[in-house]
Amino acid sequence: MVTCVDIRVLNLRCGEAYNGHIVKQRKEYAKVSAYHIYEHGIVRVKVPVPFPLRWVNGYILHDDEGYVIIDPGLHTESSIQAWGMVWEELQIAPQQINKIILTHHHPDHYGLAGWMQQRTGSEVYMSRTGHGLAQRMWSLHSGEWMTDALCRMFAAHGLPQDKQEKMREHLRSFYPLVSPHPEVRYLEEGEEWQAGSLHFQTISVSGHADQHLVFIDQERKLMFCGDHVLPRITPNISYLPDEDADPLHAYLTDLDKLASYDVQIVFPGHRDPFTNLQARAEELRRHHVKRLLKMIDLVQSPANVYDVCLAMFGEGLSIHQLRFAMSETLAHLVYLRRRGYVHMDETGLPYRFIKIRDYRTE
Ligand SMILES: [Zn+2]
Repeated sequence: MVTCVDIRVLNLRCGEAYNGHIVKQRKEYAKVSAYHIYEHGIVRVKVPVPFPLRWVNGYILHDDEGYVIIDPGLHTESSIQAWGMVWEELQIAPQQINKIILTHHHPDHYGLAGWMQQRTGSEVYMSRTGHGLAQRMWSLHSGEWMTDALCRMFAAHGLPQDKQEKMREHLRSFYPLVSPHPEVRYLEEGEEWQAGSLHFQTISVSGHADQHLVFIDQERKLMFCGDHVLPRITPNISYLPDEDADPLHAYLTDLDKLASYDVQIVFPGHRDPFTNLQARAEELRRHHVKRLLKMIDLVQSPANVYDVCLAMFGEGLSIHQLRFAMSETLAHLVYLRRRGYVHMDETGLPYRFIKIRDYRTE
């Protein structure tokens, strides 16, 4: 059972809280920085992000000689303010933070790591693959290659010219939010680490992000799962140039892998800690099966990815949402193609998908 033994809300706006209790949630909620303290002294910090996700969960764990932080957030002024306020409130000196551990390379988790390393002098740990991807996506030099490759891939799948330009600008806008890059050490599947009385085993999962790390304390039955399993929202599955050739397959396989662990509380990368890992994993699996069925229906007549994407997710998407929606649509169509349910016609641009046979659950 999740027990939140303390809640303090900082930096309040619009009278959203009093006596320590949130009484009203408004659209501006993302601007509110809050922390909650759970059992074993685990602190969950809501680090604001300027996206519909509203916040990313950063965590503080007690270590014998100081503190460990999991996922510091995106490099923005409001993230820095949020951490500053929480450290002050909990009387943590930045120099007491000796480890920063990253579940994965996405900007909303990784972006502030370099700044925080400079501020605290701490070591930063992540998977070797995750580090390579962060460098490739978000460093000025190789990031341009990736931006280019992604825009070319989307163009081949029907993204209109004006949206390609906006996409390019959008991707470039992330560089300052993910700078400076940290110096990292690698942490891989099977490695164990300690934070005070908590003893973690590292598990690697893919599909949402390649070699995304999950940490489990089997004795206390608690798990930090990053974005691989989220409550209430479905983690994005992205098909990206030169990365996992079948990310949805990897995602579903590793969903089963995580669901095989006996845990009582899961600390996710977004939204609130939750208890029912197996049930949530099953919901996510069903969600993707429904999505596969709908997509196969949408390619009864030949259609390109952009058309399928609009039919699936609607026309009113921001460029940020469109990037995820295009990659998610591709991940599903690629999954169907690799199993012989659909064919991709590459004889002209944009490429078009067409149904070959009915989808059957594997
Ligand atoms: Zn993520």
